[in-house]
Parts: sequence; structure tokens; C-alpha cells
Amino acid sequence: MKQYCSVCKDRFDMEVVEEGGENEVTWLKCPRCKGILPYMKLTDDTETVQADEDEFSAESIAESDVVEYDSQRTYEVGNVVYHRSWNDYGKVVEKLILPGDRQAIRVQFLNQGDVNLLENVPADEG
Ligand SMILES: [Zn+2]
Repeated sequence: MKQYCSVCKDRFDMEVVEEGGENEVTWLKCPRCKGILPYMKLTDDTETVQADEDEFSAESIAESDVVEYDSQRTYEVGNVVYHRSWNDYGKVVEKLILPGDRQAIRVQFLNQGDVNLLENVPADEG
């Protein structure tokens, strides 16, 4: 039986080690890693899990697009920033205006999660 092995990340014609009855699981053996795995009915147009295009991941970072976060700079939605003290990358997902006309950006960081950071802070305010 053709079955996808998540360990080998491939499909193989597998040997049935235990035939399941109705509502029971049929167990297959992967010829490559010898792992035992439950048989799941597959159709040829197996749904592939589609990555959410808006999802921000380490793989989606293009090194050339990264700008280091600096509170005195301004950023645009979509910018990828690098926060030095956290050693973390984040994507600007929203521009915010805070009381007192202060500007901030909402950044989705890989490790820190959603964080609001100030931007365009005058130099003398540190
Ligand atoms: Zn396998």
C-alpha cells in the first residue's frame, strides 16, 4: 500500500503488518526506516498544507531586507527588523500613533511575539 512516511518524507509501497478491520487501524511498515505507521487513505490530489503567505518565519527572511531596529528611525509595514539586544528578527505589521504624537510600530518577532516599539524618536530623547 502506498503511504507517506513523515520520517522519511517520502511515499513508499509499504508492507501491511497488521490488517485492521472496520473502524480499526491498518498498520504499515516503512521499508526505509522500518517504522510502523497507521495507514491513512490517500487520494492522488492529497491536500497539501498551504503555508499562510502572511506567516513570518525565519525561512522567509531575506538577509538583504533586514534593517536593524533603531528607535530614531522610521519603518514601513512589511519591513524586517533585527533587534540587537534580543537577537531576534521581526516583521513590521502595523504603524501606530501614540498619544503625544509619538510614533510606534507593531512588530511580530520570531521569538518575542508581538511587540510595540517606538520609532522616529528624536535623538535627544534617547
Ligand atoms: Zn520511513
